Amino acid sequence: MSKIQVLPDILANMIAAGEVVERPSSVVKELLENSLDACATRIRVEVEAGGKQLIRILDDGEGMAREDALMAFERHATSKLRNIDELERISTLGFRGEALPSIASVSRVTLKTRAEADLEGTQVEIEGGHVLKVSDLAWPGGTELEIRDLFFNVPARRKFLKSDSTENFHISNLVTHYALANPRVSFILCSNGREVISTTQVESLRDRAYQLFGADFIDNLVEIEESAVISVQGFISKPDEQRASRDSQYLFVNGRFVRDRVIARAISEAYKNVLPSGTYPSVMLMLTVPSEEVDVNVHPAKTEVRFQHPYAVHEAVYNAIRTALATARPFASFPVEKTVAPAPIKELSITHPLAEARFNETLPQAFETVSPPALPDVEDPFDSIPNPAPSVPSLVQQSLSFATQPACSSLNIDYRIDERPGKIQPLGQLRESFIIAIDSQGLLLIDQHVAHERVLFEQQLERIKARELELQQYLIPETLDLTPAQATAFELIESELAANGIQTMRLSGRTIAIQAAPSALSTSDAKRLVLSLITIAEREKQTLSLEDFQREIAASLACHAAIKINTPLTKEKMEWLIDALMATECPTNCPHGRPIILRFTMRDIERGFKRS
Ligand code: ADP
Ligand code: MG
Repeated sequence: MSKIQVLPDILANMIAAGEVVERPSSVVKELLENSLDACATRIRVEVEAGGKQLIRILDDGEGMAREDALMAFERHATSKLRNIDELERISTLGFRGEALPSIASVSRVTLKTRAEADLEGTQVEIEGGHVLKVSDLAWPGGTELEIRDLFFNVPARRKFLKSDSTENFHISNLVTHYALANPRVSFILCSNGREVISTTQVESLRDRAYQLFGADFIDNLVEIEESAVISVQGFISKPDEQRASRDSQYLFVNGRFVRDRVIARAISEAYKNVLPSGTYPSVMLMLTVPSEEVDVNVHPAKTEVRFQHPYAVHEAVYNAIRTALATARPFASFPVEKTVAPAPIKELSITHPLAEARFNETLPQAFETVSPPALPDVEDPFDSIPNPAPSVPSLVQQSLSFATQPACSSLNIDYRIDERPGKIQPLGQLRESFIIAIDSQGLLLIDQHVAHERVLFEQQLERIKARELELQQYLIPETLDLTPAQATAFELIESELAANGIQTMRLSGRTIAIQAAPSALSTSDAKRLVLSLITIAEREKQTLSLEDFQREIAASLACHAAIKINTPLTKEKMEWLIDALMATECPTNCPHGRPIILRFTMRDIERGFKRS
């Protein structure tokens, strides 16, 4: 007898379930996809105990005839694919015919369904892959699938399921994904009898995001709208929004929710020099790619795709985000009380990564003291700035000084309205640290230190890339004592440090010495720089990219040379700084993500005065 045998179907299904069904939310995903493929316009999901006890999905889709209701649980049985050509351009979410048999092999399933043309509905009961009962049923239409006791026959799997709240989180995250991708479908999610998501049918992604996350959230995002061969639509967060994980990135390709490295990398790169490394923006991106350009048959769970031309996808996403950030110039706004949203919004009661996002709830960091390095200052960084002839006296010129409390506040305002049409016009300085300015949309506060830092950062980055940095050999090397973890991280970046102009030497134990560094840096800046590079390598557990090195060096040079707070500036210098800032690639945030400009729009002002 031959040693090799064909597996019985039930066993094959259970093996397939290992890949398709990772946790309750994977069941929800497959069933939601089936309902969407059946053209449902209303979908209701109920779960109990994080989906471990019960998952019930009811849709108003096309339903199934008796024969199909049984066929659906056969291995590789699908109504969505007939031949190999169709595999090349799949327009449905499902196509593998694997989900229902896999799920049914590891749970207790009840299916209730009726096709429109039929008078009688069908009920099918299956347990661990065995059909127990098929019966007639009076059923209004559409399909309901009830999945009980997931993994009841696979204890090893059951053991790995997490707490109810963790599984609930994954489920609500998933329903949120599909709700975003399908605004014209209404979704309801109930957990243990409580409604956690409830959306009505709407027309656009914006409306749907509004239903799910509320007005504040959507108002604080930047819209993306690029329609070329690869179209990119959606919303991205402003650079102030910094998240520790990619949890609030919602990515879709042709309506399919995906986890994709090409897109994820394009997003990270588009936010380079805008967000600190290791932090991520929130995004909702809908890509539309010609179906022959994308292979969805990469993994049984279908959350991975393969692009025929990954570079084109990368470019499309990268450019769309850069353009949106550059044109929207999303200045951080002052924290103001928002008016109540006009449409009813259900609060998500399961904490959702996006629902948590509330921008600017606390005073933005720009209000905190920008700590100048504890070093004697080098030359005035503005020395190189042209100082034009004193300006013509203005019509209204006024100086306000709250001299009674000099330590508390001092404001000098110089009114020269409409001198710079179309440009940001500085009025004066607040505490010799923040420039007060106006533009067509309202009032602006500009942090002079980070503004100048941004300008210098881009200049220095250019110089570093052109290898124009001058180096300085230290007479007495600067020493640094590292922790064991830092010493390990240092080993990762030692040779790259040297390649980027920072020569180091290992002394005894965990002490290192810096022998040479870019000459514009003071020794203590060089020390700080090396430490911050070590910290990044430690955090990322790997060596850094050339760009990371260049960016950190440029940031360090910029921070050191930038104009400090508590420095009086003439009007000309303020104008120069503002113009130079606006000419940078990203005038809204410093290289580490801190806001540079706070805006108080006319709307905010009118609201504040209760005029609207
Ligand atoms: P696939 O979605 O890859 O075709 P599934 O195992 O998920 O495979 O489903 C098998 C078949 O069952 C589908 O092709 C479809 O014809 C039918 N089906 C599943 N769920 C539904 C539903 N909610 N409404 C109508 N038909 C469904
Ligand atoms: Mg399916």
